Amino acid sequence: MLDRYNRKINYLRISVTDRCNLRCSYCMPCEDFVMLDHSEILRFDEIVEVVRRGADMGITKVRLTGGEPLVRSDVTELVAMIAAVGGISDLAMTSNGVLMEKFALPLAQAGLMRINISLDTLDPAKFRRLTAGGDINRVLRGIEAARKAGLEPVKLNCVIKSSSLEPDAVAVKNFGRENGMEVRFIHQMDLGGGEFSIVEGGEGGDCERCNRLRLTADGNVKPCLFSDLAWNVRQLGAERALKSAVNCKPRCGTTCNHNQFYNIGG
Ligand code: SF4
Repeated sequence: MLDRYNRKINYLRISVTDRCNLRCSYCMPCEDFVMLDHSEILRFDEIVEVVRRGADMGITKVRLTGGEPLVRSDVTELVAMIAAVGGISDLAMTSNGVLMEKFALPLAQAGLMRINISLDTLDPAKFRRLTAGGDINRVLRGIEAARKAGLEPVKLNCVIKSSSLEPDAVAVKNFGRENGMEVRFIHQMDLGGGEFSIVEGGEGGDCERCNRLRLTADGNVKPCLFSDLAWNVRQLGAERALKSAVNCKPRCGTTCNHNQFYNIGG
């Protein structure tokens, strides 16, 4: 499907939960955030209905995000349900890797094809500080497990303040090169301030070529990360919500004041 700027929209990013087992300082503050009530979070059958309708309309690529998708119980079942939808030729996930050692093989067996794992530093103390207590060794073991399970290519998402020449970014880049993994550098963004840039080594943030829609954990189809436009699938049904989002997709991002990264899924 094409939007009114002739962009081919074939990519759906799905936030399966707003929960996370880390508290990265630039994404999820330690306090003062409001979680969705469980009843507000889409059930698996509702998510799959959106994917089916999307596939009918031209969606071929699906990425599962969060919060942290692996904290949603039975997420491997959802992967299997989406993998069975005709027309979806690329099924990926973005994870912080903390639980990946346990889930890598079941995810691959369920039909997940590839994975991006967040890694902003290789310094264990800095990692613990940045994530409010995370253990980097679990992430490194998770990366290894993902590779062993064949979730290739494993790509690393590295959030940077302003430059991929920052020492932590260079360390992650070298780690990636030494282990045959691509690294994406994601500049810190500000939803309310409308600050974003193109992902280095990726496609995100390139409005002119934007091919994506997002489904939030509570069922809002968002045509753009940096916009408050949204259509709810529980109110309108999947097809109408998807069509409205494509037809009203803005030329480029501006600001988003109604959501946070942890409940949109970046
Ligand atoms: S800001 Fe919006 S239009 Fe631009 S790349 Fe991001 S999602 Fe696409």
